[in-house]
Amino acid sequence: MRDGLPPNPTNSMALIVHKYGGTSMGSTERIRNVAKRVAKWARAGHQMVVVPSAMSGETNRLLGLAKELAPAKANDATNRELDMLAATGEQASSALLAIALQAEGMASVSYAGWQVPILTNSAYTKARIESIDDKRVRADLAAGKVVIVTGFQGIDEQGNITTLGRGGSDTSAVAVAAAMKAHECLIYTDVDGVYTTDPRVVPEARRLHTVSFEEMLEMASMGSKVLQIRSVEFAGKYKVPLRVLSSFTPWDIDINEEAKSGTLITFEEDEKMEQAIVSGIAFNRDEAKISVVGVPDKPGIAYQILGAVADANIEVDMIIQNISKGGLTDFSFTVNRNDYARAIDLLKEKVVPVLGAQEVQGDTKICKVSIVGIGMRSHVGIASKMFRSLSEEGINIQMISTSEIKTSVVIDEKYMELAVRALHKAFDLDQPPA
Ligand code: ADP
Ligand code: ASP
Ligand code: MG
Repeated sequence: MRDGLPPNPTNSMALIVHKYGGTSMGSTERIRNVAKRVAKWARAGHQMVVVPSAMSGETNRLLGLAKELAPAKANDATNRELDMLAATGEQASSALLAIALQAEGMASVSYAGWQVPILTNSAYTKARIESIDDKRVRADLAAGKVVIVTGFQGIDEQGNITTLGRGGSDTSAVAVAAAMKAHECLIYTDVDGVYTTDPRVVPEARRLHTVSFEEMLEMASMGSKVLQIRSVEFAGKYKVPLRVLSSFTPWDIDINEEAKSGTLITFEEDEKMEQAIVSGIAFNRDEAKISVVGVPDKPGIAYQILGAVADANIEVDMIIQNISKGGLTDFSFTVNRNDYARAIDLLKEKVVPVLGAQEVQGDTKICKVSIVGIGMRSHVGIASKMFRSLSEEGINIQMISTSEIKTSVVIDEKYMELAVRALHKAFDLDQPPA
């Protein structure tokens, strides 16, 4: 019965996890505010575990320094050091928060991921959490302390520090909440919840009171950065009650009011109050398109092209194969922009000569725009409405992919904002659902 229930702040001794993002931790003034808010929750009788991000800009600053020294493509040895480096951002903000809490008269202790420990695999810069030992944290909570655990990081079996990928503090918080069976995980950020689309791009975007777990998962995986996708996966797997809310409300607002604010991620579909067919629009500028042109159309080409790409550990997203003309076909797919150069080199060196293809073409100036909604399961004509609305804006669609609850298109990057705004309007997302 824990699913989707708001925390009951008067129910003393509930274990609550708070996560604060970079902007929320962005200055000593803001850290002091976070400390006051957390102290309020602790004084209401809760056991508090807090997971902070690095102060805003810090992770970029650190990684920027590394890039100055080693602009070339990263290898495993460099990636190990990038994790050593980037993990310091959260170590600093966590210690500062503990100091601020102590200054508020609240006993507090901070731990880096390795001290907990949060055990991960060894995939530097994109490690996955494998287990969390909560003994130390529980002992401190029992002793009446607020415990702060660094976001974004862990340690592998060999004792190397690892990080969880950009935005990974969300995942740290949800994983800690799952491991400790917390009553709720509250993700405090610089917006007051999950919106129909990024409010920075569409000012008319509306906050959703609730969003289903499946929709949130699609939105996150299609590029909506308000939650890191793995945090949503964790929440689903362990049924962690999850809420996204603002850290910019006055810290001393009524705790019951605060506990009900923002957006709740729900696990039961019929509890969903807002029954829009399309709930949200996500976009992503992180991908690039690659086409292998003039490939002899015979069995095994998809395997030969994508197998080589997969062997190089490059993830592929959308895939299209054209009908063949005169025995030749074109094969296109998208990869993360960070992997683009490597994928092109690989195809030119290893695949084109073997397949006898004509050439490899690429385009990094693309974006992916997706409409997401559980209602798409039971309604037809949603994708065609999307295509019509884009065509009315004169936007050419380069690739399409669908799942049960989303439709994505690849378009020219320069039309991204226009497309998102047009779709937001076409699906009436600026209007409250009927
Ligand atoms: P934090 O540092 O707190 O983790 P992020 O910058 O990672 O914050 O995520 C919050 C940002 O996500 C918002 O400022 C907003 O611009 C962006 N965003 C993208 N899509 C959405 C959405 N659908 N709803 C709310 N915010 C969104
Ligand atoms: N500081 C890390 C980043 O900037 C992790 C996070 O903020 O969630 O990606
Ligand atoms: Mg984030």
